[in-house]
Amino acid sequence: MNNIWTLAEQHEGKLKGVSFELLHRGRLLADTLKSKLFSIVIGSGVDDSQLNELIERGADEVIVVKDPALKGFVCETYVKILERLVKEHKPHTILAAATTSGRTLMPYLAIKVNTGLTADCTDLDIEPGTGNLLQTRPAIGGNIIATIKTPDHRPNMATVRPKSMRPLEKDKSRKGTIVNLKLNPADIDGRVTITGYHVETEGFDHIEEADVVIAGGKGLKKGDNFSMLRELADKLDGSVGATRDAVDRGWISYSQQIGLSGKTISPKLYIGVGISGSVQHLAGIKTSETIVSINSDPNAQLHQLADFSIVGDLFEVVPVLTKRLKSMNTESK
Ligand SMILES: Cc1cc2nc3c(=O)[nH]c(=O)nc-3n(C[C@H](O)[C@H](O)[C@H](O)COP(=O)(O)OP(=O)(O)OC[C@H]3O[C@@H](n4cnc5c(N)ncnc54)[C@H](O)[C@@H]3O)c2cc1C
Repeated sequence: MNNIWTLAEQHEGKLKGVSFELLHRGRLLADTLKSKLFSIVIGSGVDDSQLNELIERGADEVIVVKDPALKGFVCETYVKILERLVKEHKPHTILAAATTSGRTLMPYLAIKVNTGLTADCTDLDIEPGTGNLLQTRPAIGGNIIATIKTPDHRPNMATVRPKSMRPLEKDKSRKGTIVNLKLNPADIDGRVTITGYHVETEGFDHIEEADVVIAGGKGLKKGDNFSMLRELADKLDGSVGATRDAVDRGWISYSQQIGLSGKTISPKLYIGVGISGSVQHLAGIKTSETIVSINSDPNAQLHQLADFSIVGDLFEVVPVLTKRLKSMNTESK
């Protein structure tokens, strides 16, 4: 009854990284409750080595419903499978990623099992004494941080922002169980058939997926100056992001906004250019591996958090960096 479930996400038989991030969240909760952590995998083609990785990264038990009929994500079918499992096993908590599929599936499931759901959580904990899940998320446009609980219903259900926690390191010595369940044909919703899908690449710069993100703020002075960052990003095979201030001024599109009311990123390298480092912006970058700050103000908040700080005028520093990278690329050819 006290078990924690996380919903693994897969696409075309490959587990997405967020499945492992959720296990880290789930592991902390399960350890607090002294209970077990389950990973639920629904789909087709997920091989045994990936299922074992779920155990190596924190799961005690993996429940798998694998069938060619589950190749594409059909919300109604996935919910029917989950509803059946939830009613049978009665988990304490179900966590899913706040992705398109997680955000589609979880409200539907919450209604089916008659419980509440908190979307887009940034923090989770267990309330001492009651065992309620404490679900923390920004509310009222990000102006307050609210902690929400569902005291009268179970399971607790929450979606969690991708990239807001790193996965646990693989531990090959961890032991767990993999339970394969057969798809009940009655669970297939025949009203929806997926005939194919199309990946939109044109015009998109996916900062959430990028290993390197160069972000610009108000210090850039005008939208045209983002071309400097684009040039630097190209040299590092990276993407360009921005603060809300830059987005609100129309210098760059909202899809590139990083922070509390934008995207959470977790690149290997983040370079903040002309960015002060407000708490709302920092909320979106804190799991970046290496943070570099370029700011003329030595007291800028971003410098305090950064692994490397360059105190200087960005209009001098950025061209020098780009030029240096260009010459390094030429030297290495
Ligand atoms: C509800 C709410 C939600 C929000 N959500 C977000 C969010 O998701 N993301 C986000 O980013 N913000 C968000 N904000 C806004 C946030 O509070 C800050 O206003 C914003 O992050 C500041 O952006 P900035 O760093 O570009 O600008 P500023 O704070 O004005 O900083 C500009 C920096 O540029 C430096 N600079 C100026 N000229 C140069 C130069 N020539 N060379 C080098 N450095 C220079 C300055 O020293 C300064 O530090 C939110 C605010 C609210 C109230």
